[in-house]
Amino acid sequence: MTKKTKLISFSPSTISKYIDCNASSWYSFHEDEKGELFVDKFYADIGNAIHESLLELQKYAKKKFYIGDDIDYVFFINFFYTQLDLQLETFSLSMKNTDVEERIVSIRSGIEQCVKLILTDIKFWAVDPTSKEILVWEEQWLDHNDKKEGVYLDDSIRSKTRADVIGIYNDKNDNKPYVLVRDYKTGKSITDPRTDPGLLMRGIWSLIELNNPLANWFVINRDLDINDSYVILEAVNLGAKKSSDFSIRSILYYKDLPAIVGSFSNVINKIEFVKQSVDQEIDAPASPGGLCKDYCPYLHRCNFGKQHVALRFGIESLENRIHSNQKAFTDYVSNRNLLLEQLTFISMQQCPNCQSELHEVPSPKKNIYIKKLLQCSQFPNCKFQIPTLLKKKKN
Ligand code: SF4
Ligand SMILES: [Zn+2]
Repeated sequence: MTKKTKLISFSPSTISKYIDCNASSWYSFHEDEKGELFVDKFYADIGNAIHESLLELQKYAKKKFYIGDDIDYVFFINFFYTQLDLQLETFSLSMKNTDVEERIVSIRSGIEQCVKLILTDIKFWAVDPTSKEILVWEEQWLDHNDKKEGVYLDDSIRSKTRADVIGIYNDKNDNKPYVLVRDYKTGKSITDPRTDPGLLMRGIWSLIELNNPLANWFVINRDLDINDSYVILEAVNLGAKKSSDFSIRSILYYKDLPAIVGSFSNVINKIEFVKQSVDQEIDAPASPGGLCKDYCPYLHRCNFGKQHVALRFGIESLENRIHSNQKAFTDYVSNRNLLLEQLTFISMQQCPNCQSELHEVPSPKKNIYIKKLLQCSQFPNCKFQIPTLLKKKKN
């Protein structure tokens, strides 16, 4: 009798979380009795409302184009804002709230540019020559067939995911049409498709399907000669300040599929290991950064995170955040003196764990938030490292 392989199922966001901070992943798999801290979803909810409105607009524009109606920009901008009102309501938010309005105004030009992009692109999506269907799908769950839901990296690892937009796009230089996978990003940070686990996963699925079509809704049995040697991944960054960051495209080649599948499988196996691990400090190091203060639900459990937030934003900021969970706050108060002692050591450039000297070193993960790290001179024997403090911006 053959032994059935255990299927590991994961979402691209599990990978993103693990890459951002291994410790945060570990905490999520090892809940404790104190529970989590409150995470304010205000900006995320506005982002989701904008995102949903854009997809509704795209679906409606596609319908109008199919029946031969005019695609009028002013009509669709009004359509977008009507949709946005409805979507905001589902999150109990309203444009009449000044903070909501401020956020929307701050990315208005990105929204309007995105509406133009959607409307211009409507005529570039390929059309099935037999059914006349416009070959672009919005929020489509990916599968290989009815029995294989998700993206199968191999028989034992799959990812359940859906693409904001996936479709067959007519090449503007008259080459074969190609698969375009697009995500609308409404956050403040810029997404690069080369490093976005969600877009890469959908790219992997497309390449598998192009070369071995099984999904009954995608390219199978269509009388179309589609490029199967690559797919294009595109992140549309609505909040981009530089025009070159608004639409970032990258090419994923079929020849690179084994390498990229291999690196995903590798990360998934590491995450499975972290799930089983009992020692967070050894197996899942913390990477304090931009997420700790407002977005990590495990800040109260993480020493490096607390030290980082206290030094960068002040102890009141840290305490206000932990206060959102009474059990966590009581525990914090009973250990506060130890934290204060650790902060004193750090401010004297001494390691709070082993009292060795602290050095500044370049950060291996550079971003707008972290350029350098303050690291123990005994690293990696001693694990202490937190981002160096950035100079506060002048108002
Ligand atoms: S507080 Fe920061 S460093 Fe600690 S687990 Fe959370 S994200 Fe990671
Ligand atoms: Zn040390």
